[in-house]
This record gives sequence, C-alpha cells and structure tokens, in this order.
Amino acid sequence: MTKWKQIIPQRTIMGTLKHGSDLLEELTQLCVRENITLGRVQAIGAVQKITIGFYDQERREYRFQNIGQPLEITNLIGNISIKDDKPFIHAHITLADEEGNAIGGHVASGAIVFACEFILEVYGGPVFTRCFDESTELALWRFPD
Ligand code: ZN
Repeated sequence: MTKWKQIIPQRTIMGTLKHGSDLLEELTQLCVRENITLGRVQAIGAVQKITIGFYDQERREYRFQNIGQPLEITNLIGNISIKDDKPFIHAHITLADEEGNAIGGHVASGAIVFACEFILEVYGGPVFTRCFDESTELALWRFPD
C-alpha cells in the first residue's frame, strides 16, 4: 500500500564537505550535530574513490562495487530519517568519469570526498523510522498510524 505523511519544511543548510572525509559519515555527523532527523540532501562535487551498491532483488542482498578512481558527482540525491535511533542517510548517486561516462547506484560508506557542495533541507513532522520490511528485506519507512 502506498503510504505518506505530510512534512513541514523548516530550514535549509548549504555547505561543503571536508576534503578526504567519508561522504556519508560526514553528512551523518552534521545531522547529529544539528539535530536533523528528517530531511532531503542533494550534492555535486567529486570523489577520490567510492563504493556503490546494487540491491540484488533475487538474493535480497546488496552487491557492492569499489571504484578506485576519481569521479565527478554529477548528482547525489538522498533523504534523512531515523534508523536504530540515529539519523540515517539513504542516498543514490550518479558519477561521471573523464570521458563523461556515467555510473550510479546506492551510496555506501567509503566514498572519499575530493570536493562536495551540498544542500540539506530540514523537515519537521512525524518521525520516519526505518524498520525491516518483509516484502523487500530492506529497512524501509514504517509510519506511525
Ligand atoms: Zn538505496
């Protein structure tokens, strides 16, 4: 069943991530420091290397690909909600190599920032909590009734 809740835009943060930092870790720490529990993130920039995931729907597990070369972040889009009582960022990314070839997937830890400019929209409203979902075996949002 399709489910949704109304959310309330509160504020927007814009900034740059530290050179050499882990992209997801750095954004998550920002959410913890700023007490952000619900939101949206977008970013552009470049990574020194990255690990991206593809969810194998048959096997019900992520397959990860390590890409050990510099790439442009042509688009990163993600959301912030709560998992295991902490802010959790779920982000997908499209990257381009020096020839302009694109690759993309689910952002895993190990994305090392070369430069990254982000915009983070902070929302208020109901708590969005990730819980185990039986039909996908993923941690998806479970809404309070
Ligand atoms: Zn994903």
